[in-house]
Amino acid sequence: MTAAENERYSRQILFPGLGVEGQERIGRAAICIVGCGALGSFQAEALARAGVGRLRLIDRDYVDYTNLQRQWLYDESDAQNESPKAVAAARRLRQINSHVLVEPLVKDMTPSNAEELASDFDIILDGTDNFETRYLINDLSVKLKRPWVYGAAVGSYGVVMPIVPGRGPCLACVYPEPPAGAQPTCDVNGVIAPVTASVAALQVALVMRLLSGWEGFASFIQTIDVWQGVNKRLSAGPPDPDCRVCGSAGEFRFLDGRKRTPVSLCGRNAVQLHENARPLDLWALAARLRPLGVVRVNEFALRLSVPKYDVTFFPDGRAIVKGTTDVGVARSVYAQLVGS
Ligand SMILES: [Zn+2]
Repeated sequence: MTAAENERYSRQILFPGLGVEGQERIGRAAICIVGCGALGSFQAEALARAGVGRLRLIDRDYVDYTNLQRQWLYDESDAQNESPKAVAAARRLRQINSHVLVEPLVKDMTPSNAEELASDFDIILDGTDNFETRYLINDLSVKLKRPWVYGAAVGSYGVVMPIVPGRGPCLACVYPEPPAGAQPTCDVNGVIAPVTASVAALQVALVMRLLSGWEGFASFIQTIDVWQGVNKRLSAGPPDPDCRVCGSAGEFRFLDGRKRTPVSLCGRNAVQLHENARPLDLWALAARLRPLGVVRVNEFALRLSVPKYDVTFFPDGRAIVKGTTDVGVARSVYAQLVGS
């Protein structure tokens, strides 16, 4: 480390958990952030300030005004220009710390590109908003024996969990399947910035601790409610020997894309999504979605019309997103409405 680096990171080096060796490890680390919304943008800024060696930012969305309330790194000009989040974030991160190698990718992480995009990293950070991508990251993490840090927030409530294959349970040990039915999402139920910042900060602390070596690692689930002022830590238990991912079966269902894949409907400016095929209660979903647009529902289908899209949901969880031919956009619309 140079004298300038010693000076720049002196307060972090003074922290006994890190010291000079911890700082050197941070400086050598390559971190992949999947999703640059409220969680990912905060994670990226904190890690750039901490002096991480290399940061990859994967996000396929564009900045809009509804993001500015909680998403770090972006400003009104980004929303006005509809800048891709990964690109806008990288621009700002280079101003914050020009020594960090920042790699923005305007892409959706999918089973077909996940390995290529995220295999060359020490830790993968969850900045996503949907379980589909989280289980994909979990498959990848177990396959590559590389840690990842799960994080999620909605309303004033958040949760984090560090996952280190071989040293603790994976996400599927604790939650074998994605939650059934519609889940609360920030676009339907709202979210406040203090909780997204708290969750992202806890994730970054876990990254620092993992990079420092973390003797005696034991996984846990930490939950936080910033409105109620409640913070809990639960044991994540030991790895489940029968876990379909990290147990003897070793099945990477999400990574192998064995689940049905979405199809763009030719000539119809629409995408049909199969992959979230688990039953939906259309009447309950209608009640949730009514504030967002025009909702029509019967026992066979629910149709939501919002300015850019018409989305039709079916009781088996299938959906058709009209208004785009881009599978990534359709997936993101679905995730925002149903929670994926
Ligand atoms: Zn497992």
